[in-house]
Amino acid sequence: MGRRVVVIGAGAAGMEAAGQLAKAGCSVTLVEKEEETGGNVRNWYHLFPDHRDSKEVISYLDSRVAHKNLTLITGTTVEDMEQDHGQFILKTGDGMALEADAVVVSTGFDLFRSERKEEYGYGIYDNVISSADLEKMFRKGEVLRHDGEIPRRIGLVHCVGSRDEKVGNPYCSKLCCVTAVKQAMELKKKLNTARVFCFYMDMRMGGALYEELYRESQEKYGINYIRGKVSEVSENFDNRLVVKVEDTLAGRPLKMELDMLVLMAGMEMSESGARLARAAGLKTGENKFFAIADHHFGSNKSELNGIFYAGTCTMPMNITETISHARAAVADVLDYLNTLSG
Ligand code: SF4
Repeated sequence: MGRRVVVIGAGAAGMEAAGQLAKAGCSVTLVEKEEETGGNVRNWYHLFPDHRDSKEVISYLDSRVAHKNLTLITGTTVEDMEQDHGQFILKTGDGMALEADAVVVSTGFDLFRSERKEEYGYGIYDNVISSADLEKMFRKGEVLRHDGEIPRRIGLVHCVGSRDEKVGNPYCSKLCCVTAVKQAMELKKKLNTARVFCFYMDMRMGGALYEELYRESQEKYGINYIRGKVSEVSENFDNRLVVKVEDTLAGRPLKMELDMLVLMAGMEMSESGARLARAAGLKTGENKFFAIADHHFGSNKSELNGIFYAGTCTMPMNITETISHARAAVADVLDYLNTLSG
């Protein structure tokens, strides 16, 4: 049997890395904290830019980990990691001790908990929902207000929990603008007569076909983009949301009544990743994600020999980037294992 590698986290990055390492002859243990694999991809309905059903990505990832060299352990976390003469010993929450020659950390991201931005009323008003809640509605096949009515006027708020010093996240999550565009188009496809408004600070559409999607959303679907920050959300006597926005293009304040408000939650270092960083003494960067060894040549390397990173535990990434990053991690791991003697 080949060298032993433990991969922590079975989202897109972990599954891709674990599958490729198994294929390369390593004996791989993939540890996942949830009962199911797939991570955040599982919570999404259609993906951008091509509106592919996320189930297709899930079945691709499932096919990667179906390998004889790979052992999948679900429903437990890695609580501690020690190194002894180049060997790693990882202790899981349910009392297992896993030995490894190399470790791949792929603990992914958590979506920003929108209730932390109290002014938007998430958890206070029933018709303020998050982008993840909307995906669940899409998957269910119906987008309805809490009272069962079809929403006619829907707002999408960008930059919720990102580019926000107050919550300690000054960075851009990179994918919430395109998520908003995709969700706005999907809303129009489902609720043809609804009016959809996006409240944005800047449109950041840096990705293959993203700009085209943005254009299409305006020309074909008539999405209204309002450059401005939502300052306050309240509810009136008939349960409609009242949203105050500073329209920075028109230079005047706006007050709008909406039936539903969707918050584009940003990406943060996962809680399980943060716990692992503390337990294993791994460095985190300014943005609280794992700190990579080098921005140009070492985006899969930690500062500790033998510990590697894959995917969104290091920074916000889309699925394409995540899978590529995982493959690059595999190249670094194999390189490292080749340098070990014996
Ligand atoms: S991608 Fe857009 S919505 Fe997300 S943080 Fe960046 S600017 Fe804000």
